[in-house]
Amino acid sequence: TRILLTGGSGFIAAHTLDVLLKRGHSVVTTVRTQEKADKIKADNKSAVDSGQLSFAIVPDIAQEGAFDEAVVSDPPFEAVLHTASPFHFNVTDVQKDLLDPAVIGTTGILKSIKKSAPSVKRVVITSSFAAIVNPGKGNWPGHVYSEEDWNPITHEEALESPQAGYRASKTFAEKAAWEFLDKEKPNFTIATINPPLVFGPIIHALDSLENLNTSNQRILAAAQGKWKDEIAATGVHLWVDVRDVAEAHVAAAEKEAAANKRFFTLAGHFSNKEIGQIVKKHFPQFKDLPAESTPGGDYPEGGIKNYFSFNNERSVQILGLRYKTFEESIVDTVKSFQAKGL
Ligand code: NDP
Repeated sequence: TRILLTGGSGFIAAHTLDVLLKRGHSVVTTVRTQEKADKIKADNKSAVDSGQLSFAIVPDIAQEGAFDEAVVSDPPFEAVLHTASPFHFNVTDVQKDLLDPAVIGTTGILKSIKKSAPSVKRVVITSSFAAIVNPGKGNWPGHVYSEEDWNPITHEEALESPQAGYRASKTFAEKAAWEFLDKEKPNFTIATINPPLVFGPIIHALDSLENLNTSNQRILAAAQGKWKDEIAATGVHLWVDVRDVAEAHVAAAEKEAAANKRFFTLAGHFSNKEIGQIVKKHFPQFKDLPAESTPGGDYPEGGIKNYFSFNNERSVQILGLRYKTFEESIVDTVKSFQAKGL
């Protein structure tokens, strides 16, 4: 199948590209600059040489019409995977730096497809648990989060902090996609992938571990000895491996039954304390690792039973996911840091 993948330079997109190429799809991926395209080329030389992989430059997804040219190809696209969206908290203007690229990026690509790429049958959008969780409910013991849940965040609340801004950017972008489907009745169906914290090996071009993607930063902190005296608070105790998230994107593009569904893709609960324990078990040579007695990073008082639960059955049944274990994910992630000079 001929597929357009946006944001090819990203952590999740690099794994998604990997799965697409292994499954024999023909891929065009968008990146912001030629320099970023060149780095992906170097990592995927044979696919580029054979013509299986090529590139389109889209400098800023927040611009109206940004994807007008990228969605047009010969042979024409049958599916689009839209992963590009800002995920970092280093922002001065929540509207401009987070909400606009997320929302305009999503509605923009859907408009461009409707207008200029009538052959597209499926659009898979990377959403997030951020669009599912209701932060006001806190640990919500007894609640089972599923595709039925929506984050009720308002525009006003979005502007309160970069963290709220990020969660709102994912919520508003996904809502805008479902609204587009409702109002515009395009030729294509959509599917959204809604992972919580994504961990796993880095395979995308990264100049320095200082520029590590947001969700893996806590594993690096543990491995670098930053949790010696106190383990950082976990925040959301739900995780998934990036290779399973990549598989989910590709399966959602391939499978008829994924049409017009959200997919809450996650492996299970975790705590930062457990990250520290796994790093210590497998990499005892690292300095300043947390001890059993080091405070912080644990589940709420009383353990997992005092924390919300989840239902990931749809992702198993329809997408066929078989989730990796936490230990494997953390060990492979740290090994990938070692390959980058840790
Ligand atoms: P990365 O930061 O590695 O990837 C983000 C991608 O989006 C990059 O390719 C980036 O391009 C691109 N991008 C961001 N802003 C713009 C913009 N204004 N114009 C063009 N491109 C832009 O993070 P992830 O791989 O983790 O994130 C990928 C997707 O997954 C996002 O939609 C994110 O919200 C979602 N997600 C991630 C989770 C996680 O835990 N990692 C959890 C749930 C959802 P560039 O490299 O040039 O900056």
